[in-house]
Amino acid sequence: MFNAIAQAVGYQTLMDQPDIHLDLKRLDLIHPHISGNKFYKLKYNLQHAKQLGQDTLITFGGAFSNHIAATAYAAHYFGFNSIGIIRGEELADQRLNHTLATASQFGMQLEFINRQDYRNKEQPDFLAELQSRFPNAYIIPEGGTNSLAIQGCKEILSEQDRQNYDVICCAVGTGGTITGLIESSHFNQNILGFSALKGDFLTSDVTHLTAKKNWKIIDEYCCGGYAKTSAQLIEFIQFFEKQYQIPLEPIYTGKMLFGIFDLIEKAYFPPHTRILAIHSGGLQGRQNLL
Ligand SMILES: *Cc1c(COP(=O)(O)O)cnc(C)c1O
Repeated sequence: MFNAIAQAVGYQTLMDQPDIHLDLKRLDLIHPHISGNKFYKLKYNLQHAKQLGQDTLITFGGAFSNHIAATAYAAHYFGFNSIGIIRGEELADQRLNHTLATASQFGMQLEFINRQDYRNKEQPDFLAELQSRFPNAYIIPEGGTNSLAIQGCKEILSEQDRQNYDVICCAVGTGGTITGLIESSHFNQNILGFSALKGDFLTSDVTHLTAKKNWKIIDEYCCGGYAKTSAQLIEFIQFFEKQYQIPLEPIYTGKMLFGIFDLIEKAYFPPHTRILAIHSGGLQGRQNLL
């Protein structure tokens, strides 16, 4: 059901030098509301929810979550009710930001919970209680990452992508997207993940999700943590958008490209490396900042 609404994604060459070739795969163009990697992550989950006969989708996220925005639209379009459990009870009394206002317009019912309770969102007890409150609901974890999401993300790389590139780069949040890329990669390709979060827990998370070893996640370009920025990052994004006329956002894709450009400058990649960077979308989040 999802493939019918996908728009063509293109490639754009960012660098074509004797020593390095860098292309960008524009998953941000796949759909105006189910953007980038979220399209692949939701695809098999919604099919499964339909097969089970569930009429409601429940998921989790922060106030800026691309996953919340994408799920709200997908639920609306494919005829599900949706409930978004949002981190931060103080938000209940505030004017909704762009992400939450859009989700709400698409019919998502928002439930705000405090940060303490939000931490329990993967606990079996918490999930069982939620399921008993909403027996007709299909529950999707935060960021959309589960085995069906990984299955969908295996479809990001085409056969040509497996043939044409030595390195595949992506932004990492919960690790579902990079796991799909790793699982579908050719054994002599390397997958390099740029973490949006501080710390090396994502490396251990992904180690549990795949047996392959041709990958690495670095957090050197997370600028101090999730949704944190630096003057250098903002300057880079402004340079990039002016140079290539391609929009980025500062939470994921901006950090990834900031990292790729810096690593190229530091001659991290061996000569003649052909790199494919994945533009995973997420541009709806820019409008919260305007
Ligand atoms: C959600 C998101 C990611 C992170 O994907 P994970 O599968 O959670 O690692 C990367 N980029 C963008 C733009 C996103 O919205």
